[in-house]
Amino acid sequence: MCGIIGYIGEKNPVDILINGLKSLEYRGYDSAGIALKEKDEIEIIKSVGKIVNLEEKIKDEKLIPSHLGIAHTRWATHGKPTENNAHPHTAGRVTLVHNGIIENAEELREKLKKEKVRFYSETDTEVVAALINKYYDNDPVEAINQALKEVKGSYALGILFQESDDLYAVRKDSPLIVGLGKDENFIASDIAAIIDYTNQYYLLEEGEIAHITKAKIEVTKDGKVVEKEVQTTSMERDAKDKCGYDHYMLKEIMEEPVVLQKTFEPYLEHLEKLPDLTDYEEIHIVACGSAMYAGMIGKTLLEEYANTKVEIDVASEYRYKNIIYDRKTLVILISQSGETADTIAAMRKAQEHNVETLAIVNVKTSTIARESDSQIFIEAGPEIAVATTKAYILQVGIMALLAYKTALTKNLVKEEHKVLEEAEKLPRLIKEVLDRREEYKKVAEAIYQKEDIFFIGRKIDYATSMEGSLKLKEVSYIHSEAYQAGELKHGTISLIDDGMPVFAIITDDTIKDKTISNIEEVKSRGAQTIIISNEKYATDDLQVTVPKISPYFQPILIVPTLQLIAYETAKLRGCDIDKPKNLAKSVTVE
Ligand code: GLU
Repeated sequence: MCGIIGYIGEKNPVDILINGLKSLEYRGYDSAGIALKEKDEIEIIKSVGKIVNLEEKIKDEKLIPSHLGIAHTRWATHGKPTENNAHPHTAGRVTLVHNGIIENAEELREKLKKEKVRFYSETDTEVVAALINKYYDNDPVEAINQALKEVKGSYALGILFQESDDLYAVRKDSPLIVGLGKDENFIASDIAAIIDYTNQYYLLEEGEIAHITKAKIEVTKDGKVVEKEVQTTSMERDAKDKCGYDHYMLKEIMEEPVVLQKTFEPYLEHLEKLPDLTDYEEIHIVACGSAMYAGMIGKTLLEEYANTKVEIDVASEYRYKNIIYDRKTLVILISQSGETADTIAAMRKAQEHNVETLAIVNVKTSTIARESDSQIFIEAGPEIAVATTKAYILQVGIMALLAYKTALTKNLVKEEHKVLEEAEKLPRLIKEVLDRREEYKKVAEAIYQKEDIFFIGRKIDYATSMEGSLKLKEVSYIHSEAYQAGELKHGTISLIDDGMPVFAIITDDTIKDKTISNIEEVKSRGAQTIIISNEKYATDDLQVTVPKISPYFQPILIVPTLQLIAYETAKLRGCDIDKPKNLAKSVTVE
């Protein structure tokens, strides 16, 4: 998330840096900053809020004339979004910008404090700056190398050194490219930030350090020079849109924290803006595909915590069935595009029976948005990859808020659920989950050669399993099925074979022991179980553990892991990830 841009060349970098930051805005940010360098002088300007704030502030300053600079949009993970915590950060003779999370920042900070290092911000970033400064003895590359040996976590770093007129960059698990110009060079989180100046770049691999001057780029790894291949974006517009990610699917998954924050914003302080479901005697949820699985989570939450009975059906069935509307009913339609033919037909059927319809939809100009009686819009922005990711997360988010509001209206909210408090933390926690791509790659490596996979879970974890399984089959073409964990033994367990992967989703405390017994059942038949949970288990299974949060939002932390596992698996299998065979983005036919 967030963004970095750096410039070295003959021009004054200010406009290039500010424009670059603007094109990285979509990643979300809470503050921004810029550092300009000329000889020994470094000038740093930071501001909280929008990039225009920084732009305004810069206008009022008499800036040093310079030809080298770095700039940053921050999405705070460690320390509040204040001016002081905004990047760039300086420690001694080192100034840098950072995207990512340093996992062992506290440990390193304590160690450095004992060595009399002083800290001025609450960020994990300042610790890296201090560590590089500690090892800096007029050899920048060596200092970066030494320091990063001690650092755990994800980072893209743009670095300036006091006695050097050059720019340095390194990355791990956060995107960063080196843009190649004529008598000028760049670093950027994605090509979009620099596409107006160049369409050629180097992809920095993990552990590679780029030493950049206006005329030359030297990339080294462990002290040895690496020959880099020049990448050229041929489809400018496409590259710009993908923002440096290999696929739209990945870009869209990475946008989840930002779009969730945007979608929740109007409601967190004004739940009254959401419809009151207690006005109805019966709720029907109707949707297709992933939207239907988002609905299943909604149904589980409404029944479990708001004591509200919900009927759910896929739209292609609902439209033709004899639906008995004998009570005051609300039909909730969920559709990303708002053009799903079956869902439109279900909506019209309800309306023919004078039944009220509520649409949860992304595209505001769509048929469902226009024709439904009321609407809740998710703020996913354009979703290009055929397999939905961010829109699904937002549909679940809205269903969770609706269930919470209903529970609140019925006086059923339990103290320990702390829903609104947790909702505020949610974007940050999703980001944390998304940053652990190495773990998902490992799981993908374990499963990508298999041809059959099962997902098991109970209650809400079963609903989550359905989406995990669908995502995997959509993009990787591996046959997979989701089963209620307790149901497997009534037939399907006969399919479990030696080495067959079984994903077990376990987050619901009330039922987890039962699921654990089901894990044992499949394991004793040879299955290779992979536990996706909000708790670590003392077993030798492959495990992915996400932070524990209010049960209303737990699926929103679990599903991104399943999306990324599906993505990495499809990548290993060489699939056409953004456009899987036989599928279309919005299913406008029956
Ligand atoms: N972890 C760093 C911070 O909180 C960087 C966050 C980012 O990626 O913008 O300042």
